[in-house]
Amino acid sequence: MIRQMIKINEEKCNGCGACATACHESAIVLRDGKAHVLRDDYCDGLGDCLPICPMSAITFEQRETLPYDKTAVLQHLAKSPSPKTSGCPAFVPKPSAHLMLQHQMDYCHQALNFANGRCK
Ligand code: SF4
Repeated sequence: MIRQMIKINEEKCNGCGACATACHESAIVLRDGKAHVLRDDYCDGLGDCLPICPMSAITFEQRETLPYDKTAVLQHLAKSPSPKTSGCPAFVPKPSAHLMLQHQMDYCHQALNFANGRCK
């Protein structure tokens, strides 16, 4: 499918890692001192990483790629030790909280659609 994705200009990237920290899906990794999208289906294409980049190295592009896979992202986040977690057992890492809210909203929309269909 063709959809919006981020595009990282390696020549501009200074490897600061701010985009990786800003990404709710942990879709960006640093490799050899440069930022890379780990997997296209982890990137929702919304660009939370764009405004944080001090080098303006990230832009949007429309291109052929995999669809965003929220389930794969949740599995990825569950497996990956997050550098953002603290020692507090009550602490919920930001990416998980963000995605859990998205899941809850999906269920609400499904329930509303179901209820609307039954009440007509
Ligand atoms: S925020 Fe910009 S400069 Fe920093 S790692 Fe990401 S792409 Fe590179």
